[in-house]
Amino acid sequence: MFKKLLSALLFITIICCGCGKKEPVLQSDLSKIKERDQLIVGVKIDTPPFGYLDKQGKNIGFDVDLAKLITRELLGDENKLILVPVNPANRIMKLSADEVDMVIATMSITPNRQMIVNFSAPYHTAGQAILVKSTSKITSIAELSDKKIIIVFGSTVEKNLRSNYPNAQIIGYKTYPEAVNALKSGVADAMIADDTILLGFSMNDKSLKILPKRYSREPYAVAVRKTDESESLLDFIDDELKKAYNNGEMKKLKEKWHIN
Ligand code: GLU
Repeated sequence: MFKKLLSALLFITIICCGCGKKEPVLQSDLSKIKERDQLIVGVKIDTPPFGYLDKQGKNIGFDVDLAKLITRELLGDENKLILVPVNPANRIMKLSADEVDMVIATMSITPNRQMIVNFSAPYHTAGQAILVKSTSKITSIAELSDKKIIIVFGSTVEKNLRSNYPNAQIIGYKTYPEAVNALKSGVADAMIADDTILLGFSMNDKSLKILPKRYSREPYAVAVRKTDESESLLDFIDDELKKAYNNGEMKKLKEKWHIN
């Protein structure tokens, strides 16, 4: 009798606590953005031609235009875009802390980063290059192994240099303008960064030159959180990128910002 009572109780407990319990349904990032009716994107404010400020302090650049394109397609109006400044050292943190819905900020896909965030298909490929003063005699990275090299903290260059050139004296800055100014004022022998970014700074500056060799492949992509809830958002971004490639919009944007 006691045994029967016990199994009946056990049965009721299983029904109440097990089958009756529903898994909480989490809202996808895509539907959260639609409900909010605003898209929040992390972009650079100091990295021409991808993300920087014009003379009036307005955000401009290729990455900013890409954010506008995604906003138009997602919410029907690019004015529903909110831009949050990010830098290489804080962009993943801001994404993980839900401060932004996505990051579009000259960010390369790397295996380490793929462990923390999800990336769209690449929209541009850069390569690391050396920037020196135009009077410099340096011709290659081999000559820099024991020299002072400027980098930006949190960038892929920092990691590459620390593992491949442990004797180089690395001088890090938080932003690209600070780094380029340091090179110009003679703080170091060279600066290493993505070629497209270096070009943005040195295009109209005769005191600087970019050396011809490239030392890496840097596929830039849009980053979203690495969660189940962000999957539909990532699919949406990938579809839009594909569409932009097919309808010529991507080509137009690259021409506008002189990126190839
Ligand atoms: N593309 C490189 C990276 O993701 C350098 C550019 C940047 O620092 O944002 O680290």
